[in-house]
Amino acid sequence: MDDSIYLNEQNIAVRDMVRDFARAEVAPVAAAHDADATFPWENVRRMGELGLLGVPWDEELGGSGLDLMSYIITIHEMAKVDASHAITISAHTTLGTSPIVHFGSEEQKQRYVPLLASGKVLGGFGLTEPSAGSDAAGTRTTAIRRGDHYLLNGSKIFITHGGVGEIFVVTAVTDADAGTGGISSFILTKETTDLARARELGIGHDDSLTPMPGFRSGKKEDKLGWRASDTRELIFDNVEVPVENRLGEEGRGFANFMKTLDAGRIGIAALSLGIAEAAYEEAVRYAVERKQFGRSIADFQGISFQLSDMATEIEAGRHLVFHAAWMAQNGQPIGKVAAIAKLFCSELAMRNTIKAVQIHGGYGYTKDYPVERFMRDAKICEIGEGTSEIQRLVIARHILKEFAD
Ligand SMILES: Cc1cc2nc3c(=O)[nH]c(=O)nc-3n(C[C@H](O)[C@H](O)[C@H](O)COP(=O)(O)OP(=O)(O)OC[C@H]3O[C@@H](n4cnc5c(N)ncnc54)[C@H](O)[C@@H]3O)c2cc1C
Repeated sequence: MDDSIYLNEQNIAVRDMVRDFARAEVAPVAAAHDADATFPWENVRRMGELGLLGVPWDEELGGSGLDLMSYIITIHEMAKVDASHAITISAHTTLGTSPIVHFGSEEQKQRYVPLLASGKVLGGFGLTEPSAGSDAAGTRTTAIRRGDHYLLNGSKIFITHGGVGEIFVVTAVTDADAGTGGISSFILTKETTDLARARELGIGHDDSLTPMPGFRSGKKEDKLGWRASDTRELIFDNVEVPVENRLGEEGRGFANFMKTLDAGRIGIAALSLGIAEAAYEEAVRYAVERKQFGRSIADFQGISFQLSDMATEIEAGRHLVFHAAWMAQNGQPIGKVAAIAKLFCSELAMRNTIKAVQIHGGYGYTKDYPVERFMRDAKICEIGEGTSEIQRLVIARHILKEFAD
């Protein structure tokens, strides 16, 4: 695909910079972080220095002042090398920071966004609960107003950066009788679980943030993929959250989080596409080099047709992702196109990584080649930020509404 249809010179410069960084500094350590399930703090510091943790935010707020396309390209390029690094950028930026940028007061933006955009501390987004997954409106965490503060009680699960992060936007019920209109959102702060490491590296912690008593992270999840990304429970035990930390009006939390997820889907689509492309490139290289029956296995139609299918679907996925990003950047409605891009690319990542492992034969099943990691990393793309089934529901709702209109 000719990238120049969607990318300007600045986008291409960002792409090349991220590509160089990912190949030089992420690729050599990705497998080790995956094996040990360790958070890549050194690279997170470098990503902060390079401006990759605040790509689309204004420079006055400490961001890089680039456009949305640059941000999507950043995730896409990073995912071609390592999905855990890519989700760190995506969860921090779209989920952790964008609700404050888009729905926060001027004071909240000035207070929190520079710390997040510069990568000084990491952010996260707490929506999912034990009984509120796909049905995110099933939130049981409560926020009861007590004068100048709210008292939060409950928990969230599977929260990206739940341990390493310090600033979180979370939902809680403020009016149990008002349905989704009774869900509000709040900004909460706690200390990173890696305080010693954060102090040593000068990233991941800021002394000016006041940890809120009663707000802590729970156990770290031991995951199939995205193993270098930190996923944990968040626990709220009588947390006193000042009224000035309510994000937006009371009762707007659910609606605002749904808007955040719409935009987030383009990022997960780009991440998925990056994995699909990485698997394809490894498959082509291996198919050309591997000899069986006296010839390269790429000469067998059974293999070359698989490569053709992979390339064809990648081309389709690139159009979906860049088109959805272009729509978002140009203020067009993105609900349907973002869900389509996310659905197609996440399932494509799964299909392509399975094919890449198959083309590698027994070697593909070992840690000697990265394709098994790509396959494990692809699976969550069909689950996080709305499962494939939920994307189909969202798309169907749009189709039926268009028909009715
Ligand atoms: C690594 C990881 C990182 C995550 N990061 C975050 C984060 O940072 N913040 C956050 O808030 N959450 C996060 N999540 C949670 C994630 O968004 C949820 O896991 C996801 O939305 C699915 O919810 P669930 O796990 O409760 O599954 P469930 O909703 O219980 O779904 C189980 C199955 O039922 C299907 N299903 C459910 N409802 C329907 C329906 N109406 N029609 C058809 N099928 C249906 C689902 O598609 C799925 O196949 C993360 C999860 C993981 C694993």
